[in-house]
Amino acid sequence: MQEINRRARAPNRRTRNAIGHMLQALADAIIPAVCLACSRPVLGHDSLCAACWRGIAFIRQPLCDRLGIPMPFGGAPNAAGARLISAAAAANPPDYNRARAVAVFNSDSDDTPGSPGSVLRNLIHGLKYADRMEARGLLGRWLAEAGQDLFAGTDLIIPVPLTRWRLMRRQFNQAALLANEVALATGIPTDPLLLVKTKTTPTQVGLTREQRRLNVRGAFAVPKRRQPVIEGRNLLLIDDVITTGATVEACARALTSAGALRVDVLAVGLVTKPLQVTI
Ligand SMILES: [Zn+2]
Repeated sequence: MQEINRRARAPNRRTRNAIGHMLQALADAIIPAVCLACSRPVLGHDSLCAACWRGIAFIRQPLCDRLGIPMPFGGAPNAAGARLISAAAAANPPDYNRARAVAVFNSDSDDTPGSPGSVLRNLIHGLKYADRMEARGLLGRWLAEAGQDLFAGTDLIIPVPLTRWRLMRRQFNQAALLANEVALATGIPTDPLLLVKTKTTPTQVGLTREQRRLNVRGAFAVPKRRQPVIEGRNLLLIDDVITTGATVEACARALTSAGALRVDVLAVGLVTKPLQVTI
């Protein structure tokens, strides 16, 4: 009887697969696949065209273990096996433990179509301002790859929050969307309400590192009743772009003073020339 059932099921599975392929082909015909950054036709959904792929300055090893910035050479770990640390991190150690990002995000070549600035800027702007959320799956996959060093031992994923007022105006927090994607990819839980932004800060655009630091000082807090959730935990903060690091450092300080053991940071874009950025 079981044998008969197995035989009876086999054609059904094949039929289902065939129907699935037909429906996918039909969907592709109705909604042609386009590049998520420039809208040129591409072969598959949820991807970039070849020119835009080439326009992303993905961050690869060797990189600074603290700031996540690319390094010109790897060097050799010392006898104690210490990780590579940049001069910038040694001079000004960040208030978080380690940062990682998908790609360099500078604006010095923005006017050239297909430049590293323009492709990544397009994807992030679409997510942030233009209700174009179709890129979030791709950005989530990139984050899951870029953050591989950070996931071991991470207890919770926390997005950089917006103020309540900004959230009402924008309807969504792009960092929370990205945090959800990373949570789905890694199985690590996320909670967008553990950290809140308690004061509205003027725009950070055009500010120096020190000005940004003052701008966001005391702007983030962990609600008292939520503190037990993060006490002694290793946390991973998610943001769309790390510019000077002032925002994620303010978040890390708030989380650490509320009892977090370790705070790492993961972002899509990492600015390595902060004064040129206009996002
Ligand atoms: Zn493209």
